[in-house]
Amino acid sequence: MDPSSEGAGAPSEQLPSSTTSPPIVVQPEGSSPAPPPAPPSRYESQKRRDWNTFLQYLQNHKPPLTLVRCSGAHVIEFLKYLDQFGKTKVHVSGCPYFGHPNPPAPCACPLKQAWGSLDALIGRLRAAYEENGGRPESNPFGAKAVRIYLREVREGQAKARGIPYEKKKRKRPAVTVAAVSSSGGGNDDGGGGDGGAGDNTVGGSSGATTSTTEFSTATTTTV
Ligand SMILES: [Zn+2]
Repeated sequence: MDPSSEGAGAPSEQLPSSTTSPPIVVQPEGSSPAPPPAPPSRYESQKRRDWNTFLQYLQNHKPPLTLVRCSGAHVIEFLKYLDQFGKTKVHVSGCPYFGHPNPPAPCACPLKQAWGSLDALIGRLRAAYEENGGRPESNPFGAKAVRIYLREVREGQAKARGIPYEKKKRKRPAVTVAAVSSSGGGNDDGGGGDGGAGDNTVGGSSGATTSTTEFSTATTTTV
């Protein structure tokens, strides 16, 4: 019996407003192309959720599939499986709104995972794989086939949704990012935070980080 616990109204002193220790800030170094500066806790928890989702997927896979035997093809299969949870309208080529970023009326085209969501997801799973003991050289999330698939998705969705993802020519960070996010396209991408995984965390900023992500991916591995 602890009477004090009942006195919920009693304003016992909580933490004084003076913060005891400042949060650890990871300094973003422009030089290293490796990890994108992400808010640690949310990114980490999202990564863990994604990883568990993938492990779950492997468990339910028929025929059974273990992580060790998982290939890029299986990863692609997984991405396609996730499409059923997507919230991004991707017009088929016969649709009158094909290529329209903001269709005036609904249509029957399927909802899919937005490219930005998949791209961010693969980045997290790729990191998670190695953090869980997987070897980089056998990382299925870094497989060439996966990169090619993602590129096809990006190009296909860019056409279908009338959103130019590719910013290859000129890389002027600030200007490019502003242009992307104000176009509404990039915005939609993140907001559609898609999927069972619901990755608003990275997806939300993907409009801005898109070019960077793509860049590092392209440069790091050429398997
Ligand atoms: Zn359509």
